[in-house]
Amino acid sequence: MSTETNQQSHQILRPPVVVIMGHIDHGKTTLLDCIRSSNVVAGESGHITQHIGAYEVEKNGKRITFLDTPGHESFSQMRQRGARVADIAVIVVAADEGIKPQSLEAIWAAKDANIPFLVALNKIDRPEADANRVKGELAEHEVLVEGWGGTIPIAEISAKTGVGVPELLDLILLAVEMEELTASPDEPGTGIVVESHRDRKRGVVATLLIKNGTVRKGDWIQSGTECAAIRVMENSDGDAVEEATFSSPVRVLGFSEPPAVGDDFQVCANKKEAEALRDAPVKVATDTTSNTAEEGVLVVPFIIKADVAGSREALEGEIAKLNTEKLTVKILRSDIGDIADDDVKTASTASGSAGSLIVGFRVRVTSSAQTLAERFSVTIHTSDIIYELLDWLREELLRRTPKEIVHTEIGALQVLKIFKKEGKSVVFGGKVMRGILKKGASFEIKQGDEIVGTGTITNVQQSKLDVKEVEAGNECGLAATFSGKMTAGDVVSVFEEE
Ligand code: GDP
Repeated sequence: MSTETNQQSHQILRPPVVVIMGHIDHGKTTLLDCIRSSNVVAGESGHITQHIGAYEVEKNGKRITFLDTPGHESFSQMRQRGARVADIAVIVVAADEGIKPQSLEAIWAAKDANIPFLVALNKIDRPEADANRVKGELAEHEVLVEGWGGTIPIAEISAKTGVGVPELLDLILLAVEMEELTASPDEPGTGIVVESHRDRKRGVVATLLIKNGTVRKGDWIQSGTECAAIRVMENSDGDAVEEATFSSPVRVLGFSEPPAVGDDFQVCANKKEAEALRDAPVKVATDTTSNTAEEGVLVVPFIIKADVAGSREALEGEIAKLNTEKLTVKILRSDIGDIADDDVKTASTASGSAGSLIVGFRVRVTSSAQTLAERFSVTIHTSDIIYELLDWLREELLRRTPKEIVHTEIGALQVLKIFKKEGKSVVFGGKVMRGILKKGASFEIKQGDEIVGTGTITNVQQSKLDVKEVEAGNECGLAATFSGKMTAGDVVSVFEEE
């Protein structure tokens, strides 16, 4: 950690938190891996660090924290919750492909969150790379980079070969110098939940990014609707630690329910304070266990993933139209980017009898998300054609809609005589008043308007011969299983179910 002291307070400079965003395939993951492998702060144990949602690197004696999974998605999710998670964004643009819809999305996201950003012009090693063309495209979208009449820093890099990456780190450090990012280890820890899931063996595992203060094992913390005493705390090497401070990512065990990704957390004095600070659970929006909104209405939890904001909004609108009296869709998340593990985890925690659905428009499903989906029985469907996607959805929702059973009377008989009643079996005779009576059909026994029993016809006889059915006007003998009451004079109303 940087230890330059700020004279006015007990604050010290803290490492910046960086998010890497950009269009799919432009090299975000490769860049994160490249930075990680060459600069990651070596753990004392020498373990290979794990992917836990964030990692720290060191450059010229200064530290930088990178948010690592899944860059774009977690960022927009966090942005929705109003948290200022990252201090700076790196927008990766492939120098051979140039500006794409998600590049613009990323730029708008950074502007919306009011954080500085810089551009990493990636894949500069490719023969088709054309830095000037991309700079021109950026200018067309009012992103004026250095050398093109603006001040937005830009680095030409190859995440594959590592060329330009050290310079990119220098630019990041330079860009945040103006930001005066300070924090104090003496204060109770606060920060953001960057990842959370339920592990079959370990229970709820949450990754916290500490942005200020210190977090200690045993502390009570509160985040959104959840609070917990930290039972176990681990660093990114997977080693148990007693305490941690900014901007370290730590994994904690102790929550009984996963806290929401992007929510703030804070260390509290005790259990009472943690519980008092807890947000009241919001009934519909965060209730991921109940699948019934109102009596008889099935709620299908839903995640929408799309390539760009425009198609995502269009899909949200179309999907809302699919609500019926019997079924409503509950959108758990609507976001841009590929379908990743986190989506499946969120969907699976919300699944009840209906099972959750993830629909993707012009996005991919990562192979680990596919595997997870199979394990958790989450249904994923993707398509590049919006009509096909909606047709599939309509069918899927229809299939899940609770079926209303409609009784249609097909015949009725007046009971004339009961020959034998034994337990649930009865043999009786009567006259068909209307319609027909059929072997195998179900019936209700009515005394006036009151239903006093129900049953199923097991055999029909006419003139002592077994028959399949008897028409109105005829007398017949019936064997049936039934429950309830039956007396001579009752009406047996035979129906079909649909
Ligand atoms: P993401 O979807 O933005 O995370 O993109 P990836 O990091 O998965 O990269 C997409 C593809 O581009 C992969 O096949 C990478 O190997 C390749 N790639 C990434 N960076 C570079 C680069 O600097 N040069 C070249 N030639 N290929 C790259």
